[in-house]
Amino acid sequence: MSISTQSPQTASLEDALKHYFGYGNFRFDQKPIIERVLKNKDVLVIMPTGGGKSLCYQLPALLREGITIVISPLIALMQDQVTALQDNGVGATFLNSTLSFDEVQSRQRAILSGDIKLLYIAPERLFTPTFIDFLEQVSQKVGISTFAIDEAHCVSEWGHDFRPEYRQLFQIKQRYPQIPIIALTATATKRVRTDILQQLRLSDPKTYISSFNRQNLYYEVSQKSKQPYLQLLNTIQQHQGEEKGSGIVYCLSRKRVDETAAQLQQDGISALPYHAGLSNQERETNQTKFIRDNTQIIVATIAFGMGINKPDVRFVIHYDLPRNIESYYQEAGRAGRDGEPAKCTILFGWGDVRTVKYLIGQKADPSEQRIAQQQLNQIINYTESSICRRKIQLGYFGETFDAPCDNCDNCINPSPLEDWTVDAQKFLSCVYRCDQRFGMTHIIDVLRGSSKKRIVELGHDKVSTHGIGKDRSVDEWRALCRSLVHQGYLEETTDGYSVLKLNANSNLVLKKETTVKIPIARNMEKSSSASKKAANAELTSGESLLMNTLRKLRKQLADEQSVPPYVVFSDASLRQMTQERPQTSERFSKISGVGSRKLVQYGNIFTQAIHEFCQANGIEVEANGAETFNRVADAGSRESHEITATQKTTYKMYKDGMSLPDIALERNIRLGTINGHMSKLIGAGYEVDIDRLVAPERQLAIIDAIVGVGPHSLRNIREAVGETYDYQEIELVRSLYESEQQGGKR
Ligand code: ADP
Ligand code: ZN
Repeated sequence: MSISTQSPQTASLEDALKHYFGYGNFRFDQKPIIERVLKNKDVLVIMPTGGGKSLCYQLPALLREGITIVISPLIALMQDQVTALQDNGVGATFLNSTLSFDEVQSRQRAILSGDIKLLYIAPERLFTPTFIDFLEQVSQKVGISTFAIDEAHCVSEWGHDFRPEYRQLFQIKQRYPQIPIIALTATATKRVRTDILQQLRLSDPKTYISSFNRQNLYYEVSQKSKQPYLQLLNTIQQHQGEEKGSGIVYCLSRKRVDETAAQLQQDGISALPYHAGLSNQERETNQTKFIRDNTQIIVATIAFGMGINKPDVRFVIHYDLPRNIESYYQEAGRAGRDGEPAKCTILFGWGDVRTVKYLIGQKADPSEQRIAQQQLNQIINYTESSICRRKIQLGYFGETFDAPCDNCDNCINPSPLEDWTVDAQKFLSCVYRCDQRFGMTHIIDVLRGSSKKRIVELGHDKVSTHGIGKDRSVDEWRALCRSLVHQGYLEETTDGYSVLKLNANSNLVLKKETTVKIPIARNMEKSSSASKKAANAELTSGESLLMNTLRKLRKQLADEQSVPPYVVFSDASLRQMTQERPQTSERFSKISGVGSRKLVQYGNIFTQAIHEFCQANGIEVEANGAETFNRVADAGSRESHEITATQKTTYKMYKDGMSLPDIALERNIRLGTINGHMSKLIGAGYEVDIDRLVAPERQLAIIDAIVGVGPHSLRNIREAVGETYDYQEIELVRSLYESEQQGGKR
């Protein structure tokens, strides 16, 4: 079935949004942006990653006559975007160098016949003579509604990935002055924004800047322990949770990527490496496996991430120190593009700082060295800070943010505040005595009465503040200095020299017109307990079971069509299905992400699966909202790994070499019960040689069945595998399967 691309004139933009994309509300400035594009006006859209930029040109494309040309630099992304649109029933296609001549011809015919609303192309193709001719035909026959320029920061040399081809894009305005241009980017700096407007020659453009705050991301920093690998493993397991979400682990070097990926694999975690040292083929395979959810974790150097669009990455862990705050923002920002809760962790160790310092020392150009050193200091400040992580990140982009954010470690578990007004006065007056020409280390040296040669040479051993701060440690003074900067009582230059300067607020402190409180660092042994927001979003154990069922169904449908699972439904949609459990198409259509096309394509199969799940778990069907998950919760509790004394006795006898029937006889307990004990033990990670209990080929058959119908109903598994299998062996294999899914060893 194909969905008509023209919605009735009377329908509102909201109706169109629901019809095509299944969403109930616009985000950020999507609506005014779309309205402006519909009025044929130029716009520049600046929205953080995951904000929903694509929709700003996709929806207008569907509402207007003619075709929208989307210029996008990343071939892999084109494919993804087009697939996602097609899955929503939208006529979209792309032309790039990966296609055969015949394929290009046939796509061009489709375009000229008016079947296509969105055409994605790479910038270098746009101005080839053949394409210019073709575009002319398109313009005559079907009309061009808009040009959308994605990743528009690529026009700027000041941006992080300048592409010379983008410089040619000014020709668009020259050739088609009447056609509106919408330029989009997630790059925050002002310089790049100005550059985009100029380079593209936008006419009377309006710029829409959304906040860079990624509310759904939880930020935390943990001090590296003596066994960093185990800490990493733990963090991964915590972040993955029962739902086995996808994650990225960033490392500094290729070697560390390879080692870490191998170690994780040995520990039963589904992980693959990614770095520039692998062959193209390997990189592509690993990336595709990650996008398709065939592997849960990518261990990567920062080479990974640009050009992939996986919206459901649930966590990003920096196993080594990020290079600077901006790259940290971008890399961590690859988590949670779908707007669902996601976690970003830095494992911070001073050993890594030494490595980075060494690398900086290797740089030939002194000014590069200086900048890198300053960036390092900034990221160290970030990791060591006790104030809101979000506030620091956004401050870096010139945005003010009122803490607490309730979604970072420092806000959830804040350090106690202490009054340090007197120390602040000492510090600031020392900055003043040293003529505001020095950085933190120098000021602290003076305060602590150092007689270093340089201090004497400068005469700073003679200033009145020399030696007045011996009562505080270097670390305490550093904490104070950082806090003064964060709180705006002191400025630090950002040209690479980090010189401390006083400002108007400093005077308030010096004149005793205000008190200064600073957070006292708590013990670094912080709990990486989940944030409140993440906790709210957590599912009950019954809901998790359903979520897993729906995920498997999604994966199966995605594989059948060779598309990534998120193209079928986002995590957010699955979560809502899990919580609302719609069993009719009417209710299913209310789920966010279910548009007209998806309702037709997937409605039955999902409502059916939800229905079966509810029946199998004794949840009242559509019981006017009063249904409970009690029995499912029971089912969930079989996943509790508490081992009782009687189960331990069984284990001891089994370890002594007894068969299960013998144990049953000896203990005078039913064989089924003993079997149940063994399942529990396997689930709890006890070492059990399953081959002694179930023949290997029978195990395989049972696992196949589990993969097909899901693990929660023994009855369904038995139906799938056949009646010659009994419940006891199925239960044992299921425990093994589930414990392996959860990462094996506990
Ligand atoms: P960006 O290009 O800004 O990084 P995308 O356009 O890929 O972000 O959108 C990110 C995710 O948000 C996608 O899964 C998209 O379908 C979803 N999305 C966009 N707009 C909305 C909306 N109004 N409501 C709900 N989800 C939305
Ligand atoms: Zn915070």
